[in-house]
Amino acid sequence: MENAYKARVEPVVLKKLRILNKRIKLTEDEHRYYLNQEKGFQGEVQFDVLTEKLQRDCHILNDLQLESNKSRFQLDSSLIFQETYSLFDIKNFEGEYVYDSEYFKTLSGKEFQNPLDQLKRSKLLLSQLLQSLGSKITVEAYVIFINPQFTLFQTPPNLPFILPTQLDQFMKKLDQKSSRLNQSHKNLADKLISLHQLDPPKFQLPAYKFETMKKGMTCCKCDSFSVTIVGHKLICDRCGCQELVTVAVMRHVEEFKLLFPEQKITTNVIRDWCGIVDSRKRISRILGKNLKITGVHQWTYYE
Ligand SMILES: [Zn+2]
Repeated sequence: MENAYKARVEPVVLKKLRILNKRIKLTEDEHRYYLNQEKGFQGEVQFDVLTEKLQRDCHILNDLQLESNKSRFQLDSSLIFQETYSLFDIKNFEGEYVYDSEYFKTLSGKEFQNPLDQLKRSKLLLSQLLQSLGSKITVEAYVIFINPQFTLFQTPPNLPFILPTQLDQFMKKLDQKSSRLNQSHKNLADKLISLHQLDPPKFQLPAYKFETMKKGMTCCKCDSFSVTIVGHKLICDRCGCQELVTVAVMRHVEEFKLLFPEQKITTNVIRDWCGIVDSRKRISRILGKNLKITGVHQWTYYE
């Protein structure tokens, strides 16, 4: 078992979109974008499960955003072996597609960019970056189609595509590479992590305002607003999930902080946000227990 040298974290954009999807009406485009982000992330997480099972000596680097020759590129997943740097672009496509050198087409005729273009670009940019860092490691690049419900008709056999039916075999082959890492591999991994760029992708989040958002508490499992407080517990009327009210309120404070990082956390704001906890006392007790209190009386807020 190999733990990731650089672990994957949930993108902030995705976290925000999840909350917005519950609390405002997304446009069709925004909603599609949100679902794609969600699906893409889930696909990457599924591939992480496979790389972490590898027994070979390798460094796993998940989600690197790098720059080379002034061009940004993103590597969903990378494995540094002794002689090779394997990079993976993970696609969570579902359904039947037809291969075409320019486009992937669905049977209904919808066209998607051939992932090979992006892969070639990433491979080239990474090779140039590694060269500039003085590394002589060979770059291998693959598109991983992670979804078992994906079929690609008319795929030429020599493409660096790993289809769902080939994935098992492919992972076994990776695990047979002879590989012994030394300090230079660790230095390379550290260098790439230091070059990783954190600033978010260009997508503009949907516009939102506290006043017009849907308020209320939601279930931690199924996101339903149909929840009831019984004693110390928040109970979901839809899935039956139970959560301590304290934990649930703090979960909603986290949501609020993510969407409104500039705003002060006050009892009134959180009571409005949570909707169903009508007691100010209860909210202020929970906030007081979990956050640092600043100010007095009506100027009190929490950090
Ligand atoms: Zn539920």
